Amino acid sequence: MNDAILPAPRPPSGPAIPAAYFGERVTWVHHWTERLFSFRCTRDPAFRFRAGEFAMIGLMADGKPLVRAYSMASPTWDEELEFLSIKVQHGPLTSRLQHVAVGDVVLIGRKPTGTLVTDNLRPGRTLWLLATGTGLAPFLSLAREPDVYERFEKVVVAHTVREVRELAHRELFERDLPDHELLGEIVAGKLLYYPSVTREPFRTQGRITTLIETGRIFADLGLPPLDPANDRVMLCGSEAMNRDCKAMLEARGFEEGANNAPGTYVVEKAFVTK
Ligand SMILES: Cc1cc2nc3c(=O)[nH]c(=O)nc-3n(C[C@H](O)[C@H](O)[C@H](O)COP(=O)(O)OP(=O)(O)OC[C@H]3O[C@@H](n4cnc5c(N)ncnc54)[C@H](O)[C@@H]3O)c2cc1C
Repeated sequence: MNDAILPAPRPPSGPAIPAAYFGERVTWVHHWTERLFSFRCTRDPAFRFRAGEFAMIGLMADGKPLVRAYSMASPTWDEELEFLSIKVQHGPLTSRLQHVAVGDVVLIGRKPTGTLVTDNLRPGRTLWLLATGTGLAPFLSLAREPDVYERFEKVVVAHTVREVRELAHRELFERDLPDHELLGEIVAGKLLYYPSVTREPFRTQGRITTLIETGRIFADLGLPPLDPANDRVMLCGSEAMNRDCKAMLEARGFEEGANNAPGTYVVEKAFVTK
């Protein structure tokens, strides 16, 4: 049977889905805070992506697609898709998307893309995944991808947020992944989770650039300071975080990678400030 000739699945009711999108059903919603939520939805088998990529996703609004860039937070082997989303009070999309419920239809763009993929990095020993806020999303996918642990000896997920309760998926890293029946063995001794908080007391406080520059993160994790000979870095944060980390990495001799030109670090904006 040739899948290509089967018509794309259509929701039984509601507006027609434009050809550039899959229409998928929401299967789970979880609100972390009044500014942050996650949801899962069904996944068309034809929707393929590389861990770390993003797609245009959203809703039909007034008969038209209303979409924004979103990183897939789920691993590529998952039969569903998962997203981690901000709630912007007057944001065109997220003022609506935050109200999605199980059974609702969401649009998933058919063309995933992005720079935060392991193919854009040269081989190395330790992979550093540095995120602020929803910049964690692509790393939720990469950190659950067995192939990443074949390529790297250590994988560090460093997530910086303002308040402790914004440490979304902390339990995934601290408990669920190590306990996972299949991934547990793969990540054991390799995956290191390093949460930090900037505006509240926490065991690791401060901006990621400060934690790197003071050497605190290396002392805490028992790893040597960043060195382009061994380390590979992915950045996904606010424009300020990306800019400061880029400058710090380049001062240490790291080179930015891109599609068809692998480097020692790659970067993607977690969002664009208008
Ligand atoms: C490559 C890429 C990947 C992205 N992946 C994600 C993702 O996985 N999850 C996600 O929530 N957003 C992600 N975004 C941001 C997303 O595209 C939208 O901006 C966001 O969903 C808000 O949409 P909106 O229409 O409600 O408001 P917009 O008009 O898009 O944004 C309004 C303002 O809200 C602020 N803002 C927007 N997004 C964020 C955010 N994520 N964190 C903090 N402040 C923000 C900015 O100041 C922006 O100017 C990504 C953006 C890019 C460029």
